[in-house]
Amino acid sequence: MNMPVPGHIDPVPVPREVTPREDGRVDLLGLPRKQIASLFEQAGLDAKAAKLRGKQVWHWVYHRGVSDFDAMTDIAKTMRPWLAERFVIARPEVVEAQHSSDGTRKWLLRTADNHDFEMVFIPDADRGTLCVSSQVGCTLNCRFCHTGTMRLVRNLTPGEIVGQVMLARDALGEWPKGRMDGLDDAEDEGTYTSDGRLLTNIVMMGMGEPLYNFDNVRDALKIVMDGDGLALSKRRITLSTSGVVPMMERCGEEIGVNLAVSLHAITKDIRDEIVPINKKYGIEELLQACADYPGASNARRITFEYVMLKDKNDSDDDARELVRLIKQYKLPAKVNLIPFNPWPGAPYECSSPERIRAFSNIVFEAGISAPVRTPRGRDIDAACGQLKTAAEKKSRAELDRIAAEKQAALEE
Ligand code: SAH
Ligand code: SF4
Repeated sequence: MNMPVPGHIDPVPVPREVTPREDGRVDLLGLPRKQIASLFEQAGLDAKAAKLRGKQVWHWVYHRGVSDFDAMTDIAKTMRPWLAERFVIARPEVVEAQHSSDGTRKWLLRTADNHDFEMVFIPDADRGTLCVSSQVGCTLNCRFCHTGTMRLVRNLTPGEIVGQVMLARDALGEWPKGRMDGLDDAEDEGTYTSDGRLLTNIVMMGMGEPLYNFDNVRDALKIVMDGDGLALSKRRITLSTSGVVPMMERCGEEIGVNLAVSLHAITKDIRDEIVPINKKYGIEELLQACADYPGASNARRITFEYVMLKDKNDSDDDARELVRLIKQYKLPAKVNLIPFNPWPGAPYECSSPERIRAFSNIVFEAGISAPVRTPRGRDIDAACGQLKTAAEKKSRAELDRIAAEKQAALEE
């Protein structure tokens, strides 16, 4: 089966910047600063006032986590209802929040137009990682991935992407308290650092292929990285792609975050089967794009994700070939070995712990770091790539049908 996968072209049917709201108000979350000011101007403020109000609102929203105009105490009392009639600072709706016994938290979220997607927070001793979604569902159909079985796909807007980070901060209680009027200088000039915070890292590894929603992901991450925004360092953000080669250079140049690549196999046959985008952009092309990735260095390595599938991609020879490829392309790389997380109807099994260990040792002995990722939040199905609401059981035939439907949609 030849599966064409568009490259530069955004394959999602209705890309949009802002999800329209029934009440007609405009959601400011995720909009660039300049656009907020120009919306204020369009609504009737003069240019100078629009700029000032834009700056104030931005600060309240991203430094304080405030979403109620009425709480913006440096904005004139009469101005606040004027803003609230026309604008809103929304969060994705929380449909369900789950807490795992190991501290992992998972949220089922809903967009204003009723699409569900998920977000996961994984605390560790020295960091806390938020796993953020870029799309509802995914147009790709990696055979081992639950998200790939979802029919419905829509790009998340910048507001819905940055909204996940805002919501996590809300839930973790990580907004600075204190006043904004300069009387309380402790928190005021609020340079955000990650010191002492729970949420220190972000991975674009939730639902969806981030490089198929490039503009929105970039705009959202710009706000996350903005010193006046959420001020998280680009070194603490990792974007994971299944291998959308034509967008990788722009990812490095325009976003500049760490790159993770879902490699998962080292031969054309096996990667074609489990990561079908490989038919469009093969392993050589992908590894060359990694070698050319702007900003990659020994200090900022590219992560190769490798899901361990029993008798599929987990032999000693596979491990040796992986090492050979990494050396051939002189890649500053580390390898993340991910035990396959089974879901009902999945066509694969996870490799045994001994097999994973042996694979890891071969890569490690070649001088490449190859940690085995510990499954987290298993009791709430929170592992990355496991993100999907209801675990319906699907037959292989049905999975094939979904893949064919998506392909047809892409060809339309
Ligand atoms: N679409 C992007 C990012 C989201 S997938 C990508 O594919 O890279 C995030 C990671 O979870 C990927 O490495 C993916 O391969 C992995 N993953 C998906 N399903 C999984 C499963 N059932 N068990 C373990 N890892 C899985
Ligand atoms: Fe999409 Fe990534 Fe899942 Fe593949 S692994 S189907 S690209 S979310």
